[in-house]
Amino acid sequence: MPTTQHFECKTCEFSFDSPTGLGQHVAIAHGECAVCGEVLENGDALDEHTKESH
Ligand SMILES: [Zn+2]
Ligand SMILES: [Zn+2]
Repeated sequence: MPTTQHFECKTCEFSFDSPTGLGQHVAIAHGECAVCGEVLENGDALDEHTKESH
């Protein structure tokens, strides 16, 4: 029986079955960079951060 891995959001404890799902969730719900974990104030700031910092 395969083990289902869960990726849990440390901010709100939502859980996902893939790191991609979790990454999208933290970006959309919390404005948090999926790469370094920095929290930005909005989606635009996050977008800019992702392009410039990574
Ligand atoms: Zn969350
Ligand atoms: Zn980052």
